[in-house]
Amino acid sequence: MARSAYAENLIRTVLDNSEADDWASAVQEWEIVDWDEDLELKSACICGKERLRYLYTIRNRYNGNILDPIGSSCIRKFERTDLNDEVSALEDMFRLLHAYENHEFIALDSRLFSRKLLLYLYEDGAFPGTTYNHGDGRRDYQFLLDMFNAHNDSISRAQQGKINAIIMNSIIPYLQRKLHATRY
Ligand SMILES: [Zn+2]
Repeated sequence: MARSAYAENLIRTVLDNSEADDWASAVQEWEIVDWDEDLELKSACICGKERLRYLYTIRNRYNGNILDPIGSSCIRKFERTDLNDEVSALEDMFRLLHAYENHEFIALDSRLFSRKLLLYLYEDGAFPGTTYNHGDGRRDYQFLLDMFNAHNDSISRAQQGKINAIIMNSIIPYLQRKLHATRY
């Protein structure tokens, strides 16, 4: 089956900007260094595909070349689990921040959260040490994970209050910084 023109453009652009001459090696040279969201869908990917919503900037580790913007479906063509996980986490984070901006109630359930997202948030520093967690942000992560795993009807009022506080005081400010929400 012939490749699409978009796929051809992607492969040629990535190879032209990589040190390696073969696709499998070339895709290993890249990392995601920036991201943005275009709610008006006016951006086009380096492959030529239009109407991108999530825009990524990738940089070559060896020669510093930048490709921008590239969409998530092209990043997924690199077939790298680490990049796929990063893209999924970032898009989950955009959804979470929008829920907050739209004044939705942010429940700690699978509509907006996942164990993977909680771990990503923790590893990326979304839970700072505070007087409430005795200076150890891992406690907040562990608490949210326990509550995510618990049955909804077994969560007490006090626990729900603590969930809301961690989301509002730690996660939302982290998302605002992380996602370049300059309008705040
Ligand atoms: Zn593309």
